[in-house]
Amino acid sequence: MHLRCVDCGETYPADRLVTRCQCGGLLDVVIERTGALDRSGFDRRLTALTGIERSGVWRYRELLPPLPDATIVTKPEGNTNLYEVPGLAAWAGVARLVLKHEGENPTGSFKDRGMTVATSHALWVGAQIVACASTGNTSASVAAYAATAGLPAIVFIPEGKISAAKLGQTIAYGARIVQIRGNFDAAMALVQDAARRYGIYLLNSINPFRLEGQKTIVFELLHQMGWEPPDWIVLPGGNLGNTSAVGKALTELHEAGVIGRLPRVAVIQAAGAAPFYEAYRAGFREYHPVTPETVATAIRIGDPVSYSKARRTIDLTNGVVAAVSDEAIMEAKARIDRAGIGCEPASAATLAGLRQLVSDGVIPVGASVAGILTGHLMKDTDAVMDYHLGPDAANHPLANPPQVIDPTPAALEEILGDVL
Ligand SMILES: *Cc1c(COP(=O)(O)O)cnc(C)c1O
Ligand SMILES: [Zn+2]
Repeated sequence: MHLRCVDCGETYPADRLVTRCQCGGLLDVVIERTGALDRSGFDRRLTALTGIERSGVWRYRELLPPLPDATIVTKPEGNTNLYEVPGLAAWAGVARLVLKHEGENPTGSFKDRGMTVATSHALWVGAQIVACASTGNTSASVAAYAATAGLPAIVFIPEGKISAAKLGQTIAYGARIVQIRGNFDAAMALVQDAARRYGIYLLNSINPFRLEGQKTIVFELLHQMGWEPPDWIVLPGGNLGNTSAVGKALTELHEAGVIGRLPRVAVIQAAGAAPFYEAYRAGFREYHPVTPETVATAIRIGDPVSYSKARRTIDLTNGVVAAVSDEAIMEAKARIDRAGIGCEPASAATLAGLRQLVSDGVIPVGASVAGILTGHLMKDTDAVMDYHLGPDAANHPLANPPQVIDPTPAALEEILGDVL
């Protein structure tokens, strides 16, 4: 195993954390695997009740960094459900849609898949302390995995702008929280400086070991589909780490002969935070960071760290990028919630984007589609309350506000006459 620069090809050893190449480029983990890959080994591990093999990440360890069992920190993560959703497929306009709910991970987002690998790598290289800058799910995941590993964690957060649930998780799991008077970029700059200065192990998605773990979203998805790829995989894009991981996973499965063809990847951004979409529209000839604003806080990113790796995913899979409005995101979210599944706003960009791409004729009506839901409904209950009870609720087709009455049978009958 070694690290290799995406831009210049320079290599580095993998037994320490190097976050960037000397040229400034992003690094990939390159795993030198020998021999054929035996898919049935993955099936055998499905029956494990305890231990590392129970993890929906480490089940695929032949395709992951070869770390010794003793350093593996697992909760265990993954094993998320794949929901067949004919009603939502019809609403989006496609023949078949399955939703993989990554909100069902231990801390409520896919970040746990990356964190198990990166935290294990941190232990392996002898890290004494870990840190990240984050506006939410990464903080919660770092705090939980550091606590599991027995490592101290420092989380740098921008003032305000963090959901109460995500902050509450981070506080509860015991991370030291440093609140910066400034935005996310300022927090990111400070944590990178501190990491260099004090030898802190950085757990942001610039860390290539995070992306190794996130590849298993695709491994587990395709395993659940009997290794028969869908025509399209749709997911939201913020910092674009997940987009990068999905592309790397598909390439590696294809090269190992596990799948016979590559699905196309569609990345959905929020219209108010869509630098990747704008670059895609310009044929990737130009790229401009933006000042991000969207209700979907998990993808409120103006200058995505993994831009160059994500571009590779689009090139490789003949992928597309789309942008959707906050209104479309919240309507799609209300539909996913009403289906009994539920997700946080950023995740619903998947369904909103799919519907738009079908209506634009990019994704054909007959397509089979797998959508990734990235985070849990309970991560952002403020967004739920605002949609259903906020000042604009009357304009929302699926608004479901509680009804207030006097405690009398007559009053009850008046409001529930239609269902009683
Ligand atoms: C982190 C996150 C995203 C964005 O993923 P990127 O890898 O940054 O593109 C989307 N949704 C949720 C819920 C997240 O936590
Ligand atoms: Zn380089």
